[in-house]
Amino acid sequence: MSYNIALNFEDGVTRFINCSGAESVVDAAYRQGINIPMDCREGACSTCKCRVETGTYSLGDYIEDALSKEEATSGYALACQMRPKSDCVVLIPTGSAACNTKQESYATRIAEVRRLSDSTFSLVLEGDALKGLEFLPGQYANLQVPGEEQHHRAYSFSTMNGGRDSVSFLIRNVPGGLMSNFLRERAQPGTALTMTGPFGSFYLRPRVRPILMLAGGTGLAPFLAMLDKIVAEGGSPYPIHLLYGVNTDRDIVEVERLEAFTHLLPNFTFAVCVVDANSAQPKKGYVTHHIEPSHLNEGEVDIYLCGPPPMVEAVAQHLRDVDVKSASFHFEKFSASIS
Ligand SMILES: Cc1cc2nc3c(=O)[nH]c(=O)nc-3n(C[C@H](O)[C@H](O)[C@H](O)COP(=O)(O)OP(=O)(O)OC[C@H]3O[C@@H](n4cnc5c(N)ncnc54)[C@H](O)[C@@H]3O)c2cc1C
Repeated sequence: MSYNIALNFEDGVTRFINCSGAESVVDAAYRQGINIPMDCREGACSTCKCRVETGTYSLGDYIEDALSKEEATSGYALACQMRPKSDCVVLIPTGSAACNTKQESYATRIAEVRRLSDSTFSLVLEGDALKGLEFLPGQYANLQVPGEEQHHRAYSFSTMNGGRDSVSFLIRNVPGGLMSNFLRERAQPGTALTMTGPFGSFYLRPRVRPILMLAGGTGLAPFLAMLDKIVAEGGSPYPIHLLYGVNTDRDIVEVERLEAFTHLLPNFTFAVCVVDANSAQPKKGYVTHHIEPSHLNEGEVDIYLCGPPPMVEAVAQHLRDVDVKSASFHFEKFSASIS
């Protein structure tokens, strides 16, 4: 049996390896050209200590000086001894370059660019190399702006590609923005575009309790990929609620897809809220106005939050104000690029 192991490096790079249940993660990584820091290979030195974020595994043989009981019970393992019993996500506490690996680059071309609204584009890229692309639902890629070779922009995948040769994104139309101008004025099917990735620690964890998803604007994108994945994995036994906040009615996109998810996932519900007081939507105001106590489930909830930095900060502050400490809290800020 071979398992898919996502190695997440400190610099945000993610690489996937396959590892049989009989092989250690270190052996599998070296076999595939990824040199995880390691000295003894015997469970004695702790150089390869890592944190297993998701998945089941055996810890193997090691001495307690290398891995304490507390560390073992809180998810740490020695990669030279750890053997997977399922697909896993493993955090490697070093940069990817130190492991002789780096971000992957993909030559793609535009398959489709569509204006979903005044403020939002949908972009689909295609390319043979994308068939081999793997990423965790919620992660992002860097897209080079065509004609501006020094500049790239980060975008979250808005679908799971599942071995297909295409990937999709939801992109905000920022007036005067480099990528926005390109999409508005020059993007054509067939235009070449280099993509690197995947990156990021904002991704879906195992479903072990209710989930609250909070999206601001095109911050909806990673949740669409997460919901794709939950559908592909047969659903969730726990409720999943998505609050999708936008500025005006014209910014609302992909509602048909969200409605389709409510049919595919009986435990999934969503609501749209709009800042504009003249909105036709029943829920007006910011996302924080519409987080109900039942969504927070007295803290027994995993919260995922994605959107522009002010929205992310406002929600984090709101959760502090209502004094709810959720079982886990994951966020992605769509910060503007500095170049
Ligand atoms: C990890 C990550 C993931 C991201 N994922 C997505 C995604 O899935 N979809 C998406 O639309 N965006 C996403 N972003 C933001 C994206 O990378 C770009 O910053 C955004 O698309 C603007 O790019 P641009 O080239 O059009 O504008 P730029 O040329 O970068 O900016 C033009 C001007 O607008 C300002 N500006 C840029 N962004 C904003 C903003 N949001 N609000 C107000 N002013 C702004 C800039 O400061 C600058 O003055 C993500 C960012 C990060 C860090």
